[in-house]
Formats: sequence, structure tokens, C-alpha cells
Amino acid sequence: MAVRVGCLGGGQLGRMLALAGSPLGIAMTFLEPQDGSSAGQVARQLVGEYGDPVLLAELGAQSDLVTFEFESVPEASARQLAESCPVFPPPRALLVGQDRLEEKLLFERLGIPAAPYLPIGGALELGPALARLGTPSRLKARRLSYDGHGQVPLAAAEAAPAAFAQLGEVPCLLERDVPFSRELSIIGVRGSGGETAFYPLVENHHQNSVLRLSLAPAPRLGPALQSQAEGVCGAILSDLAYQGVLAVELFQVGDQLLANEIAPRVHNSGHWTIDGADTSQFENHLRAGLGWPLGSTQPRGVSAMINLLGELPDPRLVLGVPGAHLHLYGKAPRPGRKLGHVTITGSDPGAVTAATRELGRRLGARVPKPPDGNSYWAA
Ligand code: AMP
Repeated sequence: MAVRVGCLGGGQLGRMLALAGSPLGIAMTFLEPQDGSSAGQVARQLVGEYGDPVLLAELGAQSDLVTFEFESVPEASARQLAESCPVFPPPRALLVGQDRLEEKLLFERLGIPAAPYLPIGGALELGPALARLGTPSRLKARRLSYDGHGQVPLAAAEAAPAAFAQLGEVPCLLERDVPFSRELSIIGVRGSGGETAFYPLVENHHQNSVLRLSLAPAPRLGPALQSQAEGVCGAILSDLAYQGVLAVELFQVGDQLLANEIAPRVHNSGHWTIDGADTSQFENHLRAGLGWPLGSTQPRGVSAMINLLGELPDPRLVLGVPGAHLHLYGKAPRPGRKLGHVTITGSDPGAVTAATRELGRRLGARVPKPPDGNSYWAA
């Protein structure tokens, strides 16, 4: 009989979990308010709110274990489920991932470098905090802020009261801007016996704060940088007694990595692993939760992943690009919405770069120029 895994949230991350689980004999059920969700199109779905106690009980009764794919699901829902069936990752990771202050406190406790910050509880605290941290800095809402929502960059201290009002005067962090050379992320996985595996660091390019392009492995990635990132991710995994996949977003400043935020789930910057690694992040998340052996995280050549935002492309346009793999999420087009992604994989970095730029031209998407004009991965 199939292993039954329940999941809070039914977006594209859930869909890719279900697709990864299917060949392993894993049948998934999603709890998701939106009928006909991305995950609900390929697996069973219970339609309703994440906090509905009756549906939570139903999900628990129908599942051997439960996970989540959306970090804003109420922690209380994960805890209710945990009373009747095992939940992975641990619900405490949700609590940390949902609150920027909790993240900062975790980084501090584990000695993980991050951008300097001060908590802001009310408008009167803005002046003294700005006097200490200076500008440029940014005001970030502690909760429910993602993809650039819930944060306002501050070029000058005078802009702070309006920024605080714009965020609804909710509890915030004031964070100093860091002069990073690039944005990276590491995806790690921890199994039931505490064993860990890490994918290579990925370089991420955003447009309007939304991920547009990931390059994997990150260009010019030396062993020292990779081991620094694994140290950060490994410390968090072990501190949280974690099971499953965890992503850590990082800024590179000189040779140092600063932690920005964690995502206690599979992550957009890991989508390349479906086509470009021995085992995908989705499969490894399920393997870890089930206590099964973790799969190899080795990359197969190099990969570039482009998000498809707002408009659905003609599949023929995408598939005509050498090495391109198309993944659509079954979502209706809406401006800026993540509708799918394309991963281009190959052993020749120059060919993958050329194909990525060709895809960008075909889709009318801005993709960064390679430093030497030929390859993103040039030394
Ligand atoms: P976040 O929601 O924290 O991931 O921030 C969204 C984007 O804002 C990041 O991907 C960065 O490009 C930028 N950003 C966030 N925090 C900082 C910071 N302290 N210094 C410079 N840029 C930042």
C-alpha cells in the first residue's frame, strides 16, 4: 500500500512534491483553500482553511505523516496535527521562518553572521534606531513579508515614519543595507538519524524582489565558500532537530556569507535539482521525512533556472532551446505570478549560458550578461 503523506499548502511546491513522491509509492493529500490548486490537480486535495480543525483532523487521519509547503501556514495547525501524526519539519521551524526577529535571534545564538538590525515596536523607536544603524537601511515587517512585500528601503532617515506607516505600523526590524556582491542560497536536507546532505550553493538574480534566474552551482564557487554555507545550514538543521529540506538565503560580502532568511521547506532556488541533480530537493524532502536514505545531492553538469512570471509561454518556444526542461504549475496567468519554470542543464557551461540567453530572448525576459560574454561559470 502507498505511503500517505499529508501537506499543508497546495501550491506549486506541493505539486512538485507530489510528482517526486509518485514513483516512490508516496500518495499525497493537500489541505489548501483554493479549489483546483496547483497540487490538487495532480494529487488529492481537501478544500478549506489551514486552520479548520475538522479538516486538520481529516488530514491527520488520512496521513501517515504530514509536512508543509507554505511557511505562512499557522504553526497552531502544525501543532494540532503533530498530536495525532508525525509532522516534519518540526513546527518550531515554522515559528522561526515566520518571524524575522526569531530568525535573527537564532542566527545570533548560533554565531551566524547577518546584517546588523534593531527591532522596532513603535514609531518612537525609529529615530534612535536610525541614529545607531544609519542609512541606507530598510524597514522589514517581522511577519508575512516575502518576495519584497513587507519591506521598504530607506535612503534617508526622514523617510522612516512614512515607511513604517506604509507597513501598517506592525512590529518591524530596521536592518542596515549590506554591500553584497551577490545573493546565494544553500539547500540542505537532514534525515531522521541526523545525517545531512547539501546541494551546491546557488547564485540568485531577482527582478522586483522576485527570483528570476538561479545558476547552479554558483559560478566561481570554491570549497571554502561552500563549506561556510554548509556550516551555516548544518548548524540550523541540527539546532532545530530538523527533518526535511531547509533553504538559507545568503548575501556574499567579500569572502564572507551573511544569512538573510531561512525557508523551512523546499525552495524556488532548488527547482533546478529536478533536472540538474542526482536527487531532487522534493524527493529528498520526502525521503528525509519518511526516514528513508537520503539521495545524492551531486549536480549533473551546470544548470540555469528561469522563473516564468505572469504569462504562459508557447511550449514549443521553450522546448526548442537545447537542454531546456519545462515545468508548468497549472495556474491561471496573472501579472507577476509564478506560473512555471524552465531549467537548462548541460555539461558545457558555455552552451548552457548561450541556451539561457536564447530562452531569455524568446521569452522577452531580462537575463544577466555573463561576465566574460561567454559563460556564467567563467573563472
Ligand atoms: P528579503 O525579503 O529579506 O529576502 O529581501 C528581498 C530582497 O531585498 C533581497 O533579495 C535583497 O535583494 C534585498 N535585501 C534584503 N535585505 C537587504 C540588506 N540588508 N541589504 C541589502 N539588500 C537587502
